[in-house]
Amino acid sequence: MQHLQSVTHRLRFRYLLALGMIALVIGISVLASHYVTYLQASDAKTINIAGMQRMLSQKIALNVHRLQAPQQPTSVASTADALRLAINRFEQNHQFLLASLSSGEARYDSQHPAYPLYFVGDPDPLEQRVRDYISAARRWASGDPLPQDRGMFMPRHTEKLLGDLDSVVSAFEHQAQLRVKLLSWGQWALLLVALMVLSGQYLYLFRPIERQISDNLASLDKQRQEALELEQQANQASIAKSQFLATMSHELRTPLNGIFGMVELAQLESRTGTRQRYLNQALKSGRELLHLIEEILDIAHIESGKLVLKNNDFNLPSLLDECLAPHSVEAHKKGLQFTSQQSDNVPEWVYGDPIRIKQVLNNLLSNAVKFTPQGSVDVDIQYRTDEGRDWLHIEVTDTGIGIDKANLTRIFERFTQVDERSQRNYQGAGLGLAICKEWVDVMGGKLSATSIAGKGSRFTCQIPLGSPKAEHLEGIIAREGRIAIVDDLDSSRRYLGLIVEQLGFQCECFGSAKALLGALASGSRFDAVLIDQHMPDVDGISLAERLRDQYHGQCPLRILVSASDTALSAYAEDETLFWRRYLKPVDTAQLEQDLRLLRREDKEPATAKTRSSEPRILLVEDNDINAEVVLNMLQVAGFFCQRVDNGEEALSALEKASFDLVLMDINMPVMDGLQACKAMRGRGDTTPVVALTANAYDEDIERSRSVGMQAHLVKPVNREHLIKTVNRLIERS
Ligand code: ADP
Repeated sequence: MQHLQSVTHRLRFRYLLALGMIALVIGISVLASHYVTYLQASDAKTINIAGMQRMLSQKIALNVHRLQAPQQPTSVASTADALRLAINRFEQNHQFLLASLSSGEARYDSQHPAYPLYFVGDPDPLEQRVRDYISAARRWASGDPLPQDRGMFMPRHTEKLLGDLDSVVSAFEHQAQLRVKLLSWGQWALLLVALMVLSGQYLYLFRPIERQISDNLASLDKQRQEALELEQQANQASIAKSQFLATMSHELRTPLNGIFGMVELAQLESRTGTRQRYLNQALKSGRELLHLIEEILDIAHIESGKLVLKNNDFNLPSLLDECLAPHSVEAHKKGLQFTSQQSDNVPEWVYGDPIRIKQVLNNLLSNAVKFTPQGSVDVDIQYRTDEGRDWLHIEVTDTGIGIDKANLTRIFERFTQVDERSQRNYQGAGLGLAICKEWVDVMGGKLSATSIAGKGSRFTCQIPLGSPKAEHLEGIIAREGRIAIVDDLDSSRRYLGLIVEQLGFQCECFGSAKALLGALASGSRFDAVLIDQHMPDVDGISLAERLRDQYHGQCPLRILVSASDTALSAYAEDETLFWRRYLKPVDTAQLEQDLRLLRREDKEPATAKTRSSEPRILLVEDNDINAEVVLNMLQVAGFFCQRVDNGEEALSALEKASFDLVLMDINMPVMDGLQACKAMRGRGDTTPVVALTANAYDEDIERSRSVGMQAHLVKPVNREHLIKTVNRLIERS
């Protein structure tokens, strides 16, 4: 910056100097040309006057002659007057011509060519003779001539004077010519000086300026090139970083799968309190790590500009319940009040990106619970039509630590956590809101926040949604049976009620255990009760115990629904308390299958464990730890399972024996999962294939579909999810 200023100053000084010199040269030229014109005019005047002297001397001589021979007295007077006039003029001119001989200090310039004519003469110099001539003429004019005055005007004498006056004219002409020559030389010299000044300017001012400008341009160009190279390097580094992040987060999934699987298996093995607690903690930490990996993957996507929405029809009440239920459990665990209100017009099916909406909602809810040490978290969900579009309005309000004004605008920036305190007391990488904002922007929605430090925050999210593209008419088959639903969370009651009604059962919802017990006391009868575990006052477990103990044989079947899988597994052993246990989101196919058994005499449906013949699953996996995890999960769930190491071995295993399902890793040596599935479909094998892989990109899921796979499970896979998917596909086939 300073260098640029000094260059500018130097440039300005130089061009001002150049302009000044040009102005000086032009000024001198103008003055010189004025002077030349003046001199020429004065020379012309002098020559003119010198020429006039000749004519005047003749006139004087003529008048003197007339006075010498007078005709009449009147003409004598007029001739004398004319003579006087001529003499005066002649004398004036004479003085003028003598004055023009003067130069500087000297009275007369002896170098002037007219000087010798005037002052050096034989016998008398011209100047003396002119004076004598004037004096004689005056005496004639006054009528009092001297005797010698007669000879003065004799032709011989006059001719001589005329000749000398002619010479004076020539001398002045000669002098003028000399001056013209000199001036012309002067003008040439001036031109030469101007040219030298201009050349000097070019050499000493403009050329250095030109050199400096071209040097500066060259250095600017060099800097631009360097900046471009740096930009390229930065871009490459950024791409490499994004790729590295994507690869790392992908690679991290594989060992995580092993860790999750082993912990889940250990949970099944060990039921002792302390060990269970340790394992639960390990799982919790693992999930936090997985969440962080997913956030980093999202950032990598954002940085590479790869935020692509995956819009499709989805069930909105199901999604809302899926998000709200686990956070309500967390809130209750922390002793917070968790409420949710939902407008009645929330449609069942909408068109949008459910994964991203879930991600945004989960982030807002988990922050609200995380940053609220006491008080409440309230969720308000509205469905509105605005600007010709349908909008999902979600407002999450908490009474937590709040955010001060200065930080409120920063929280949507990446890696921003409000202060040291929040970093120390609360977990998180400060990525969630930034990612959510990006996704909401891509969806065309708005995400904003208001907050008062120490009082709480309100996050408002508006997401535009479309109408479903396909018809979603659930065939309602009237079934016998009345089902009760007990859940304190409005969204859960609505969603479970919807499922149960769509399965064709009669349904009644209760917001608390007390309400259900009241209805039962006043004679209402139900075949089954879907009970939420986490409820204020009387929780799901206490309610089930009361129902079991109070109603014995008359007791409706109790089905536990919980957003917490630890709660579910805690009561897995106690068959007397719950008939079935469901993890939210409820698997509707499984629920329907179970509810169908309600009217049967034998109310114990077949489970995987009691099937007549075990379903046969072929596991294709090269990683030993992952293979062991999945094998264990499947075997514990009652499946027969055979493992092979790669696609080629899978093809030969499928030739030798038949399987109900293939669980296929994608990245494997010899032959990968995609090639193997393609080969299977190529030879007419329709066995369902499930991809079980760390490849989590949308493109990866699309690639699995394109080769004929029925499902795509991303590692680390959740045991429940794996078993559900396997069951669903085996039953369908
Ligand atoms: P983090 O994973 O750290 O929670 P987020 O991007 O979700 O990252 O949030 C950024 C920061 O914004 C948080 O660290 C916290 O300081 C602040 N913040 C977000 N939600 C809330 C809230 N409900 N109450 C108070 N502070 C919040």
